[in-house]
Amino acid sequence: MKFFLKTFGCQINNYDSIKIIKFLKKKFFYTKVLNFDILIINTCSVREFCQKKIFFFLKKNTFFSFLNILTGCSSNIFFNIFLKKHYINIILNINCFFFTIFLIYMFYFYKCKQIFFIDYFKKNNNLNILKNNFYIVIMEGCNKYCSYCIIPYTRGRELYFDFFKIFKEIFFFKLNIKEIYFFGQNVNSYKYFLKNKLINFYFLIEILYEFYYNFKFYYITSNFKNLNFNLKFYKKIESLHLPLQSGSNIILKFMKRNYKFNSYKNLIYYIKNNFSMFNFNTDIIICFPGENNNYFNKTLISIEKVLFDKSYVFIYNIRSYTSSIFFFNNIKIILKKKRFIKLSLNLKNNIHYINKIIINKIIYCIFKNIFLIYNNFYFSYLYLKVLIFL
Ligand code: SF4
Repeated sequence: MKFFLKTFGCQINNYDSIKIIKFLKKKFFYTKVLNFDILIINTCSVREFCQKKIFFFLKKNTFFSFLNILTGCSSNIFFNIFLKKHYINIILNINCFFFTIFLIYMFYFYKCKQIFFIDYFKKNNNLNILKNNFYIVIMEGCNKYCSYCIIPYTRGRELYFDFFKIFKEIFFFKLNIKEIYFFGQNVNSYKYFLKNKLINFYFLIEILYEFYYNFKFYYITSNFKNLNFNLKFYKKIESLHLPLQSGSNIILKFMKRNYKFNSYKNLIYYIKNNFSMFNFNTDIIICFPGENNNYFNKTLISIEKVLFDKSYVFIYNIRSYTSSIFFFNNIKIILKKKRFIKLSLNLKNNIHYINKIIINKIIYCIFKNIFLIYNNFYFSYLYLKVLIFL
């Protein structure tokens, strides 16, 4: 039997899809062409836009000729709609994907019409390797409950993976890799207790750094609340994705983010003063309920002050289950679009400015996915010193 997998969503969803493919390949053939017996749809519900795309995809396609399985963030919150309105055969929570083969057999053996399998079952098989990069999920879920975010409801409360397993896998593959990406909804809240001794995220990186000091470490996504203020740590990484969400303290309070813009900015200045080439990326939500022109302007000012290297801007949209659905929101669509354009333009201008700063400076780069043959050795990675000039 051949299976095909369609993914909607972010990097974490892509990562989950790789996990599913790797797992199912043990029993079925994986195909990238539209000639299959099993269709797996890995869904995302973090943004309303993505959710709409899923419903559109389901409406557009008729799924009677093959077995279809739906998993991902949307599976446990919209299962009613998926079961009733669209003919989905098996719905299962992403954390239960180890049951997929069992459920497929069960489906055929018992001639089921529909199976709905939701359980927060966790297993430690959380590692994956892609080309020369090492992608690893070290925790899942979130306990923060920001007022706009659906993740704690779709992914559940935080769960942390086994420290020794993470270490063992990295050790095992260390010869093949140069970069390690740590994933998790709140990756820097990672905790592991070893005989009452706490191993937190920073300690984990510190230990790894001792062994693999010439590696690049990246992690997505971190929360300001769990940040490490020890400067030594930032020597080990060169970029940080740290969602700001808003430049207004009032909006941050309504969002339940538990920090103020000034503390956020001071930390960034502190790191940049010591590591001038450090990269900061962020997420910003605009038009949150109650965001007037004054609050929006604070966000505009904040991006001038911080100068992010990369930013993802989203217009707030209502997500079921979140507490912000009770907030009164009367921001007109036209204004939302205007603010989006304004912020995006300002961010773009900032990028031009940042790019100018590195002109005539020597920076270290990794060239990925190139293929170089040198003295009969093959390299797909190159560390280079690059001088940027105009
Ligand atoms: S910390 Fe991040 S994942 Fe958790 S609720 Fe807030 S926005 Fe969502």
